[in-house]
Amino acid sequence: MNVSIHNTITRRKDVLTPQTDTFGMYCCGPTVYGPAHIGNFRTFVAQDVLRRTLECSGLKVKHVRNITDVDDKTIRESRKLGMTLKDFTKKWEDKFHLDCDRLNMLRPTVEPRATEHIAEQLDMVSKLVANGHAYPAKDGSVYFKISTFADYGKLAGLDREHMATQSTNSAGEVNNADEYERESVSDFALWKGRKPEDGENFWKSPWGEGRPGWHIECSAMSTKYLGDTFDLHGGGIDLCFPHHENEIAQSECATGKSPYVSYWFHSAHLMVEGQKMSKSLGNLYTLDDLVAKGYTPAQIRYALMSGHYRQQLNFTFKGLDDAKSALAKLAKSVKAALGRAKMSEADFKKLIAPENNFAGTIFEPAWNALCDDLNVPRALGEIFGALPKLDGKSRDIAALGSLLYALGIDLSSESQAEQTEADVPEEIKQMAQARWDAKKSKDFAKADELRNKLTELGWSVLDRKDGFDIKKI
Ligand code: AMP
Ligand code: ZN
Repeated sequence: MNVSIHNTITRRKDVLTPQTDTFGMYCCGPTVYGPAHIGNFRTFVAQDVLRRTLECSGLKVKHVRNITDVDDKTIRESRKLGMTLKDFTKKWEDKFHLDCDRLNMLRPTVEPRATEHIAEQLDMVSKLVANGHAYPAKDGSVYFKISTFADYGKLAGLDREHMATQSTNSAGEVNNADEYERESVSDFALWKGRKPEDGENFWKSPWGEGRPGWHIECSAMSTKYLGDTFDLHGGGIDLCFPHHENEIAQSECATGKSPYVSYWFHSAHLMVEGQKMSKSLGNLYTLDDLVAKGYTPAQIRYALMSGHYRQQLNFTFKGLDDAKSALAKLAKSVKAALGRAKMSEADFKKLIAPENNFAGTIFEPAWNALCDDLNVPRALGEIFGALPKLDGKSRDIAALGSLLYALGIDLSSESQAEQTEADVPEEIKQMAQARWDAKKSKDFAKADELRNKLTELGWSVLDRKDGFDIKKI
């Protein structure tokens, strides 16, 4: 069964067929100036599910996701704190990685930073100036001339007739901003001449000191790691215009090859309790905010992928509670089936089967749903529909293992969730932690003493490989 997605540029569902033996996918990564919010993670999780599904279908995937570590926001915030851009962005990059790991997202194959690819970006800008698609301005900036690219607007479906020759926006200005509306479409900055507010954050170029515009980094890094034309490009729907439209223009004009990308994968936004997520409305959540409210990253991931990626998802606390019960139900059924099949949880976790393992199993409809425009809600529905039929047959278990891999659902973290649910008093938790620490430092006498104390108080401790569970006796 082939995997298909709705392709923004063809405006229809296309089967994903790689150009070479490896499927190349590039996803616009985070701008690292603060913690990513759960809206960002909705998009990154959707991309993670796509990659995992492609792998389960038997494809080898090369996943490239950049780190935007230079732009107006990163420069402004680092300067406010008196930190170097590098130290500042590294801090938020590390936090992003930590959150991604907690959400059980696979690390990309390559994760290039914009500041480490200045030469590649300058090379592309030079090519565009040399072949007449870009021009330097008086302030040391370089602009892409959209009137030289007849296909400008093909991704976002812009009306070319009314914008073909504009070099200034509707207000009569040359557009130096990285983001703008369709109505103010105009030539855009590839390179920005140095300004006082950039501080020490500048690089030398043939047009003087400055720094790259935002769009050029993705063209330079995607083509470097995936080739002049590659398979799939992803991002949230807000990036479709102007970011991705500009990427197509820069890349196709610099390389002379078309199409830059075969499949465009855009995911819809996350709303919160029916409203746009924003700081001013006080409804912007990070992973830490939700963990502090007692939810596990696995439950948060489940809630984020529970709606179809092309529809806006309304994030609610009820949705998180539903995710919590769904995962608990899943964990229980899987545990029982593994018992019947005499399979260990560790062996179950290793199951990643290529596509033919789904055929004829009770989970085939769930797999078909994933392959059909990545329909995660339908796949989850089919999984729950099939669970009562799960009787320990090894082919069914293998298919379920692969499906959970594709969805990135790690049930072992749910046993940790049960532990949180057990309502363990703080002093018991501290005592159990002290016992674990004693055991780790090989102070077995102290560890035994603490265990006895806990037993007296009515609590038992069960050790796992990397921690412990506390249960009421
Ligand atoms: P940024 O760090 O702002 O560049 O965004 C990283 C990714 O998150 C991009 O693909 C954005 O399109 C996406 N994104 C931003 N806000 C939301 C949201 N509310 N819901 C879903 N995706 C979002
Ligand atoms: Zn990008």
